[in-house]
Amino acid sequence: MLQMENKSKVIDLVVNNDLCVGCGLCVYKCPNNAIEMRWNKIGFLVPMPSNKCDLDGSCLTVCPFNPFPQNNVRTEKELSDHFLPNAKSFDPQIGRYIAIYAGYSNKFRITSSSGGIATYVMTELLDRHTVKYVVSVKETKNPFAPYVYALCNNKQEVLSSSKTKYFPVTLSNVLTQLSKLDGTVAIVGTACFIKAIRLAQYEDQTLKNKIVFIVGIICGGQKSRFFSEYLIRKAGGTLDHCSELQYRVKDLSSSASDYSFSCYDQTFKHQKEIKMRYVGDMWGTGLFKANACDFCDDVTTELADISLGDAWIEPYVSDGYGTNVIVTRSTLAHEIIHQGMINGSLSVRDLELEQLLISQRGSFNHRQKGLGYRIRHAKKRGIIIPPKRHDKESIPFYFKLVQKKRMQVRKASLELWSRMPKTETFDRRIRDKLTCLRIRTKVYHYLEKIHKILMSSLL
Ligand SMILES: Cc1cc2nc3c(=O)[nH]c(=O)nc-3n(C[C@H](O)[C@H](O)[C@H](O)COP(=O)(O)OP(=O)(O)OC[C@H]3O[C@@H](n4cnc5c(N)ncnc54)[C@H](O)[C@@H]3O)c2cc1C
Repeated sequence: MLQMENKSKVIDLVVNNDLCVGCGLCVYKCPNNAIEMRWNKIGFLVPMPSNKCDLDGSCLTVCPFNPFPQNNVRTEKELSDHFLPNAKSFDPQIGRYIAIYAGYSNKFRITSSSGGIATYVMTELLDRHTVKYVVSVKETKNPFAPYVYALCNNKQEVLSSSKTKYFPVTLSNVLTQLSKLDGTVAIVGTACFIKAIRLAQYEDQTLKNKIVFIVGIICGGQKSRFFSEYLIRKAGGTLDHCSELQYRVKDLSSSASDYSFSCYDQTFKHQKEIKMRYVGDMWGTGLFKANACDFCDDVTTELADISLGDAWIEPYVSDGYGTNVIVTRSTLAHEIIHQGMINGSLSVRDLELEQLLISQRGSFNHRQKGLGYRIRHAKKRGIIIPPKRHDKESIPFYFKLVQKKRMQVRKASLELWSRMPKTETFDRRIRDKLTCLRIRTKVYHYLEKIHKILMSSLL
């Protein structure tokens, strides 16, 4: 009953409950053009319905955080059974897959964030005429929307759209153009965006035929635009006067994780750059992260043809040039990687599943192990969370304390920056919370170690 009665209000249940990631698929799906994406007060793009909205709620069927999904598409597992039938291996943490590798593209590694496999795969798809267009994230001259999803129809454009942008983007603008295009398309995206595309394709065979390949970018959380503002200020740049934001400037003489943020300050005509290690831990703390990401258990983009992340494990992490972890999930993706290895375009080796899990350990711990606790916490506040696969894990007391503090840090970071976008004030006001989080995390890791030693001595 709840499902029917609330159908017209479900968009409010997602957006007003801070569960929107801004993918924009609802804009694409709306039959009345009654929704558009706008910036909210905490630096995320969210849909805003106009008075043309007829409240039929059909837009919600494509929402990755729809609290009332239809049968057969409730979770990533169900969707992957439908879309990736040739991925015969299965692991509950990474979903269906064909093979797992670590490596890089010999040609695109230097100009990419990690090993350049994303750029390689997309240029291959164009070269082979498998697709006519690639939809990736490009730079613009607009300081309020420095990065947008856009169409590329040649390799040079794909190359110029390489590199990770930790900035909110939306698919609403490009997806609405697809039906007018002649030819097929490949899209690059993070897990929640890909889920939205798969939900749309499930209902719409034309879209399924149009988007024939999806490159998945393993994601540790979507950042608010405040994250970029904070980094610009930390690097010494002037807000609203900086362009060419580079989130992953490699240090070839150091490790892969020792990267910098840089931007070009037009006021002072000067390049500003700061090593991320001087900024502090921006990922494990949840700073500037979207709330919805705390309710996503898809760590490795389980619905993509190929999933790509950073190989945060030895020996790869010690190599400042960057190396990808690679999971192939469709026959075509597998063949592209295999062919690249044979013809010498790729330097890629098999990787054990266990190694992949270690490479993203923090993300698995937070997103899958800690999820049940966060869901129970949200439910107590009356928020309806979509069905999740990892909702039953129980966690030790000290990990609950870590979770609680991390949620507070995330929320406080967005509130503080929206009130006062100054790094000194922000750093001063967030410091105590971060210190408390760090101590709780250390104690938790220590207790875990003791627990492991005790368990192994009992065996
Ligand atoms: C928000 C975010 C969080 C991430 N968190 C993790 C993590 O926790 N662990 C991990 O291992 N890796 C993470 N990554 C992925 C990692 O940074 C690399 O993007 C990935 O390893 C691919 O590297 P590459 O060298 O093959 O990509 P490249 O060859 O440099 O190509 C990257 C492709 O991604 C596209 N792109 C850039 N920004 C975005 C965006 N915001 N949304 C969608 N597409 C985009 C580009 O247009 C380009 O096509 C994250 C990426 C993003 C965008």
